[in-house]
Amino acid sequence: MNLVLLGAPGAGKGTLAQQLVAEYGVAHISTGDLLRAAVKGGTALGIQAKKYMDAGELVPDQLVIDLVKERLAADDAQKGFILDGFPRNTVQAVTLDSELSGLHRELDCALLVDVASNVIIDRLSSRRACRDCGYTGTAADEVCPKCAGEMYQRDDDKPETIANRLDVYEKNTAPLVEYYRGQGKLKIVDGQGKIDAVYAAAKEVLGL
Ligand code: AMP
Repeated sequence: MNLVLLGAPGAGKGTLAQQLVAEYGVAHISTGDLLRAAVKGGTALGIQAKKYMDAGELVPDQLVIDLVKERLAADDAQKGFILDGFPRNTVQAVTLDSELSGLHRELDCALLVDVASNVIIDRLSSRRACRDCGYTGTAADEVCPKCAGEMYQRDDDKPETIANRLDVYEKNTAPLVEYYRGQGKLKIVDGQGKIDAVYAAAKEVLGL
């Protein structure tokens, strides 16, 4: 399974990726998670990336591409991978295609998790994440239901940044739907139902 997950921020790509990884044992490559870890670790990459992330802008392509290349080469990605949050624009998509072909691999499909924009805004505003295990929950979770860690609101889920992230998505990332449709690789799942229902629908669409 070599899969790209497409969809607006808050569409549920991370949750779906975690479910697929748990069941099929492929690698979850989330550029957002990798960048947040770099910021938390205070690495040179994290220091460079932070200002873009805080503003809801895309981090420069080359920084993100290097991260993805490194993860694709890791042992756990040899069995398959789920890219979550990458590619985010056409340059990244074209680079991914050429990188994979250099590795004699290719994408099976790009799955669009389709959610209406008013639902996205509600979800992002109430989204909370666990500082310890990364679990994604809502404002109703006082502590993490998985590990009892502290739940917090990502800086980029604050109202002033949400609007910009959605704008960046529409301008840069939404065109990838047509990019993958043109390659005959696009599949679409309705991402508005309950978590388990979306997962079941995604498996059906993916033929799993
Ligand atoms: P996410 O967790 O996927 O919503 O990503 C959080 C933030 O990380 C984004 O708003 C961007 O600033 C940055 N980011 C994540 N993935 C990418 C990417 N593929 N290209 C550029 N920036 C990215």
